[in-house]
Amino acid sequence: MLRRQSARESAARTYARALPIVPVRARGLTIEGADGRRYLDCLSGAGTLALGHNHPVVLEAIRKVLDSGAPLHILDLATPVKDAFITELFRTLPPALADRARVQFCGPAGTDAVEAALKLVRAATGRTGVLAFTGAYHGMTTGSLEASGGAFDVRVARLPYPQDYRCPFGVGGARGAELAARWTESVLDDPKSGVRHPAGMILEPVQGEGGVIPAPDTWMRRMRQITADRSIPLIADEVQTGVGRTGAFWAVEHSGISPDVMVLSKAIGGSLPLAVVVYRDDLDVWEPGAHAGTFRGNQLAMAAGTATLAHVRENRLAERAATLGAHLLDQLRCLAQHFPCIGDVRGRGLMIGVELVDPEAEPRPPEPSASAHGPHPAAPALAAAVQQECLRRGLIVELGGRHAGVVRLLPPLTITDEQAAAVLDRLADAIEAAARHHAHHRGQSEKDQPRRPPAPPPPFRTGTQPTASAPPAEERP
Ligand code: PMP
Repeated sequence: MLRRQSARESAARTYARALPIVPVRARGLTIEGADGRRYLDCLSGAGTLALGHNHPVVLEAIRKVLDSGAPLHILDLATPVKDAFITELFRTLPPALADRARVQFCGPAGTDAVEAALKLVRAATGRTGVLAFTGAYHGMTTGSLEASGGAFDVRVARLPYPQDYRCPFGVGGARGAELAARWTESVLDDPKSGVRHPAGMILEPVQGEGGVIPAPDTWMRRMRQITADRSIPLIADEVQTGVGRTGAFWAVEHSGISPDVMVLSKAIGGSLPLAVVVYRDDLDVWEPGAHAGTFRGNQLAMAAGTATLAHVRENRLAERAATLGAHLLDQLRCLAQHFPCIGDVRGRGLMIGVELVDPEAEPRPPEPSASAHGPHPAAPALAAAVQQECLRRGLIVELGGRHAGVVRLLPPLTITDEQAAAVLDRLADAIEAAARHHAHHRGQSEKDQPRRPPAPPPPFRTGTQPTASAPPAEERP
């Protein structure tokens, strides 16, 4: 099958290259390949599977629709399944938005919802330009790509996203975020900045593909203030950060801001394709049919999504993600002390990144005002090697970041303490092996090799394990 895949599928295929697995069964955190091997899946369908694979409440919701005789495809007509989905969705939204929310169902991918959001704010403001950020990722269709960090486009003005480790201003922390905000203000207020008054600003509260970079809450509030003061709609892209992933139901809740528009996909479909734009009613000025599409009425996805949203809310899985995520970050930071090749560990909730660097290469020169030296160059080859070593140990991880040097963990919110400990153990082992091979490759002598660190502390107990969602014993590693 793998041979046929590489012979028949596009050269643009992605995950299939790094993960030569043929999954045949999956439950919770675990995927089983056709060869009988089992893997702990910390990729979770690129952050889609809030409840892991085939969660019983999701399967039950899907079966219920199938057995009911309801139509599976109904364009954008009203149905009881859709009605229940909207009710559950609105229940979770930041109250200031929920009270006046409208929802537009889009084509089923995150990028469809981003396109719709950009179209919406352009229609509402009569302006065309968009403000977006360095390192952003919003999808693969034209408008979304324009707003993503890798693009060069005249309709999008690019602003610095704050980051500590590779701060463009060389200072990081609160000061770096403040400078980034000031730059945004000056671009908007300087009549000669070369940037027209925009139709909207789009941001990710935590950049995912950009390398797991959480925006500071103060910076988020500044962006809200800057946009509100200038009547610029603020679009929060919560495609990846939503549904409890970052330790709050929606990541904008950390800063307490209420965006004008929210773009939602991935987890809201409970593992099936679904995307929506939610926005304040005063923006709802586009014409009937302004954003149409055949696949906007996936009843199975709406039922699976309703079950997922309700399960996350009722079992307080966002809180669980916050607690467990904080523990994982602590443990990974301990690990980083033993491995010079771990340049940075960061994240929020269960959206975690480990940036791998080349400790032998010169770090960037320090800023005169900064106390520590700058970061070492990213090590994408080492990150790829870690991903492969993880796979050999039965652990699936994602890669990301500007230089593809960040190993990313996006486990389901239902992961148990024991499973989390197993993930850490395998990751530590994989980093050790990859670093050793890497160093060997560089022709270093054996005694220079990074030492095997003491095993991470024994499986921890966070004391906040959701009982209702504890996975069945057979899925435990
Ligand atoms: N926005 C964000 C923040 C994303 O992470 C992604 C996907 N990784 C998208 C948009 C695009 O979603 P999709 O791949 O479903 O089009």
